[in-house]
Amino acid sequence: QAVFQSDIGGLMEQVGTGKESLSFMKRRMRRLASQWASAARRLDDKLRNQWRGQKRILVHVGFLTEESGDVFSPKVLKGGPLGEMVQWADILTALHVLGHNLKISVSLKELHGFLGVPPGRGSCPLTGSLPFDLIYTDYHGLQQMKQHMGLSLRKYKCHIRVIDTFGTEPAYNHEEYATLHGYRTNWGYWNLHGQQYMTMFPHTPDNSFMGFVAEELNETERLAIQRNKLNNMAVVYGKEASMWKGKATFLTTLHRYMEIHGTVYFETQRPPEVPAFVKNHGLLAQAELQQLLRRAKLFIGFGFPYEGPAPLEAIANGCIFLQPKFNPPHSSLNHEFFRGKPTSRKVSSQHPYAEQHVGRPHVYTVDFNNSEEFDAAIREIMRIDVEPYLPYEYTCEGMLERLHAYIQNQDFCSPEAPFPPVNSSGTWSPSGPFVPQPNSSVLAWASNASDFPSWPPLSALRLVASLEGQSCVEACQNAELFCEPALFRFINIREAFNALDFPCEGLDSEMNHLLPAFSAEQAECGLQQDPLLFSCAGSSIKYRRLCPCRDYRNGQVALCRDCL
Ligand code: UDP
Repeated sequence: QAVFQSDIGGLMEQVGTGKESLSFMKRRMRRLASQWASAARRLDDKLRNQWRGQKRILVHVGFLTEESGDVFSPKVLKGGPLGEMVQWADILTALHVLGHNLKISVSLKELHGFLGVPPGRGSCPLTGSLPFDLIYTDYHGLQQMKQHMGLSLRKYKCHIRVIDTFGTEPAYNHEEYATLHGYRTNWGYWNLHGQQYMTMFPHTPDNSFMGFVAEELNETERLAIQRNKLNNMAVVYGKEASMWKGKATFLTTLHRYMEIHGTVYFETQRPPEVPAFVKNHGLLAQAELQQLLRRAKLFIGFGFPYEGPAPLEAIANGCIFLQPKFNPPHSSLNHEFFRGKPTSRKVSSQHPYAEQHVGRPHVYTVDFNNSEEFDAAIREIMRIDVEPYLPYEYTCEGMLERLHAYIQNQDFCSPEAPFPPVNSSGTWSPSGPFVPQPNSSVLAWASNASDFPSWPPLSALRLVASLEGQSCVEACQNAELFCEPALFRFINIREAFNALDFPCEGLDSEMNHLLPAFSAEQAECGLQQDPLLFSCAGSSIKYRRLCPCRDYRNGQVALCRDCL
């Protein structure tokens, strides 16, 4: 039984020392400790003594190992990326607070020690059983485990969770399919289950959403923010001078209305990219940045970095986030940064989560090349008042709740119960438990869920057909639902086509990440042959896809209503 722990002393000792990245993470853990503790109390009450098995968990942070080059640690104090460290600090804290038995490794030596691989034996397959129920790592760590666990990695793969900032779609993850159909990248092709990848934002339902947390305010802090906000103060998003390059025109326009602050790292001289009228504070400690954001009205991004934590922190501190819309959207097909990343996702602005899940009045996403639109947005922002806002899924309680649900329910190791259910003669029995109940475009499938162990539970399933050219991500969204890849196996049957009145002249099964789907041109119905290719992402004008949608909790898209 896992017991919530609010004291983080033990965790601090385990994290170790000697790297700037570890010090950054520890400072963050200490600063947020009381916030985590009160969230744990609230969740404990909410779960009302629900049984929570204690897991043995190894966290191997691959990108921080010397063996992977550790390019991040030396840049912590120099404006380098911090988002990953924010997330790992929060993952470690959440696992600790949930009361699991945690081991942390940031070097190959520690990894070997924890896995019981004898020192100096390069690729020695692990013998015996894995001493962990779960291993959280990243792509670097996965590669290291492959090299050092050899063949046994395949055997233990189902215990692994990969922290993967931007996400990995099934078509890129499936080695054979990726190789045959041009989806092979530097990162993908591990043949994991799509939901073993865990992302920073709920980018694609094909992966699990891990997330991170932002600061929460108490009533006194809220009031102080209201009192101290300066209507004409803007902070620019970008701690590296290169992020300011070519932005002089925007800065000049903005400066007509507002005093501009920056937190750009510099050594001795002010970077030439940062105009003289900008008040540059240099790189700030996280706590000081929060204080700066509490006074500012506007947090403005110029397009890079993509999808970081800072805009959520700004919004949580009562700023309005103004960001550029990308038209056409950036993706692995047209943008250097995303090239080679195992996703086809179209990034419609600097921060699509802020744009789509938060929106106005907290977030303004406008065409920066249209100077009238840009100007009008700034003037409007100066006129309106907004309250600090933090989506529940980015609070400590939200992250604990989500991680708890994943840890207790996601299981990629047990073989799945066969579906469709077959009768004694080995054929699909139509008198099975599924009763399609038509209700306009969305069908509710009633069933005796206990016959088919599934998480999310089968009762959450709503079958939806996409339009031609539409992905299941979009089709479910249009029905105010969320695509749930874990439920694909229940709709990969002929009866699902019948229920939607698709006239199947032929029924075939193939390896294609868009299936199950109906092709109107040939009146052909296609079933998915390989469950690893079930994918919410992906569309083609040739197909109307069959989509397993589900409901979701208010402020917590990762979990269905009956998922806790
Ligand atoms: N940050 C900081 N000091 C600064 C600017 C940013 O500590 O002067 C922190 C900020 O609080 C955020 C983290 O850097 O949590 C990551 O920020 P960003 O959104 O820029 O993402 P990145 O590109 O670093 O991953």
